[in-house]
Amino acid sequence: MRVSAQDGCNDKSFHIRGTITDGTPTMIQANGLSKQYNGLNALDNISFSCEKGQICGIIGHNGAGKTTLLKIIAGLIRPTSGTILVNGHDIVADPMAAKNSLGYLPEESRLYDTMTVHDYLTFFGQLYGLSKETISGRESQLLAALELNPDGKKIGNFSKGMRRKVAIARSLIHDPSFLVYDEPTSGLDPMTSRFIIEYIKELRSRDKTMVLSAHNLFQIEEICDCIMILKRGQMIAMGSIQELRDRFGTLTYTIYFTIPDPGPVAAIASVNRDAGMFHTIAADIPEMNAITSVISAHEGRVERIESHYPTLEEMLFKIGS
Ligand code: ATP
Repeated sequence: MRVSAQDGCNDKSFHIRGTITDGTPTMIQANGLSKQYNGLNALDNISFSCEKGQICGIIGHNGAGKTTLLKIIAGLIRPTSGTILVNGHDIVADPMAAKNSLGYLPEESRLYDTMTVHDYLTFFGQLYGLSKETISGRESQLLAALELNPDGKKIGNFSKGMRRKVAIARSLIHDPSFLVYDEPTSGLDPMTSRFIIEYIKELRSRDKTMVLSAHNLFQIEEICDCIMILKRGQMIAMGSIQELRDRFGTLTYTIYFTIPDPGPVAAIASVNRDAGMFHTIAADIPEMNAITSVISAHEGRVERIESHYPTLEEMLFKIGS
């Protein structure tokens, strides 16, 4: 069963969600996660769940705790307190079982530069106990899907985009059902970045579950079913983009109009002119009605009205660092 963005996650309780109706465990159940580094609360009492088949985005300003949370989910660091089940397995008590179904992409692709891609993927595939035949089949599929043609070259000769693709291939070599990606498109050119976003969407269509962080909030808006906002280690909210808009944003209206003299409109709102047309922003419907009445009363004409939802970037700005 897949849970839709509307009911799949929210911040009503911040508590674990248990199992979904067909008995399939949720992919992540985190309860009361905290992490301290030398007295600094990098994460403070974070509880959430992520359902199978969802992409869950973690956003927040620098130092908010995104990488710390992703590393805990991936079993790379232990929480100071709290528990986390990944695919039903406690990542601290039973890391091997959890990690078999988990692929991790770190923020920076630290690869073995003297290896070829083939040797590199074989090395990691064997760590997961895969046969050479299985690894070879997966390698061919992944290189084709990622449009990567290494041509027998050593990884050290690769561009940044190619290195990121190799790191993604490594995260998928054991065909995990759950992926933890830290800034998957960070530092990449727009073309490669777009390619990776499309590839992530394809992974979701193959029922992979993913938790990722990104500073590019447009990408998070585009691909995530569920978004967690972290601020200085605290979870401010978690929900679909619509739920976050309901909570942190308001719809605004841009009115485009023509008028012989914009003065009366400028007396009640800020007016700008662009491409031969005036425009102004109304914060709500009553303000919009007031402005359009003034336009009509002064021989003006409303050409069009556009509604504008706040972007994640605008919401994050409002929440502050
Ligand atoms: P960014 O967007 O800059 O990557 P982030 O949201 O991923 O930041 P984290 O890297 O998780 O944030 O860091 C959260 C806080 O914990 C920061 O104040 C950071 O300085 C601190 N921190 C992270 N790792 C360590 C560590 N190993 N030792 C001490 N402090 C750490």
